[in-house]
Amino acid sequence: MNQPNTDALPITVRNVTKTYGPVYALDDVSIDVESGEFLTLLGPSGSGKTTLLMVLAGFTRPDCGSLKFGDTEVIRTPPHLRDLGMTFQSYALFPHMTVEGNVGYPLKLRKRPKAEIAERVARALDTVQLGGFGERRIDQLSGGQRQRVAVARAIVFEPRILLMDEPLSALDKKLRDQMQIELRHLHEQLGMTTVYVTHDQREALTMSDRIAVVNHGRIMQLATPRDLYERPANRFVADFIGESTFLDVTRSGDTLAWNGVPLKLGHHAVPDAPKLQLMIRPERIVLRDGPSEGFNTFDATATDVVYQGDSYLLHARLNDGSQIALRGAMRGTAALPEEGQAVTLGLAPEDTVVIDASAE
Ligand code: ADP
Ligand code: MG
Repeated sequence: MNQPNTDALPITVRNVTKTYGPVYALDDVSIDVESGEFLTLLGPSGSGKTTLLMVLAGFTRPDCGSLKFGDTEVIRTPPHLRDLGMTFQSYALFPHMTVEGNVGYPLKLRKRPKAEIAERVARALDTVQLGGFGERRIDQLSGGQRQRVAVARAIVFEPRILLMDEPLSALDKKLRDQMQIELRHLHEQLGMTTVYVTHDQREALTMSDRIAVVNHGRIMQLATPRDLYERPANRFVADFIGESTFLDVTRSGDTLAWNGVPLKLGHHAVPDAPKLQLMIRPERIVLRDGPSEGFNTFDATATDVVYQGDSYLLHARLNDGSQIALRGAMRGTAALPEEGQAVTLGLAPEDTVVIDASAE
């Protein structure tokens, strides 16, 4: 199991819809998961993440649509014939069984010989760094150890596809951070195509090759962490990932303007949409001594200044009344603005991001 998994399979989801009465849990979803990729479904509670995972696993049959693993259509294939491992939102371990009993369970179901089960269980436990814990009972383990048992059980038959539904949500922050790195390493080591579900944007940014942002059963954007953060396709994605300020902008010909002032833009494409907004991340806008040629400048009044150790957070009011947030690094003995003080804010043209604000 220490070799990269050369049998990893791509997943192709096409036009999958699943309704529960009037609710569209999945609304015409199409996704391509590349072979060996770590793809995360990120979205708020109730957005359809678990439903999509259950469709991939075969526990939920969609109303319509197609699902392929490699070249094979599997939409009618029952779960146990899909060759995938899964961890569920609750650990779903058997509390009174031993660790070995739990991890070996999928192999026992598949009626594998005892010796093979023992060997594979030992290997899976080593992989999640629980070697020597086989005899323990689940109720004698910590939360992080139980989570690792669930992962060991999901990988024990070396599936070509691994599905994980919010595996870390029950853990405290420190353990969660540590397990994020461990799961990422495990993926690098095993190389199986992985679909991971979380509602935590930072977790998604940390772990994923690509992220699909889900809302109301639809894919809002599928992109690398960096592209999602820096080039969100719409207001929902921009809001859901990171903090930002949004300013309404108007277009006349090729010129965009905020509050009557033309904007200096970078080289990025401006969406063709009836309603546009300038998205400003707090770490991209900076304090300036005064207006300067190369920058978009905004006159503002500091309304709140918060010292946060390594950085400070400044809230300011622009002269049209909109509020803007700025995060700056604390360096040396630089003075912070005071509340009520007039300040000049600068935004470099390459840091201007104009988003389609007409879509949801
Ligand atoms: P998430 O995992 O993103 O929190 P889910 O996929 O569990 O979201 O749910 C998506 C939507 O489908 C929600 O509105 C939820 O209430 C609904 N839903 C999910 N499963 C069922 C079910 N078995 N019966 C009725 N409604 C369901
Ligand atoms: Mg869920």
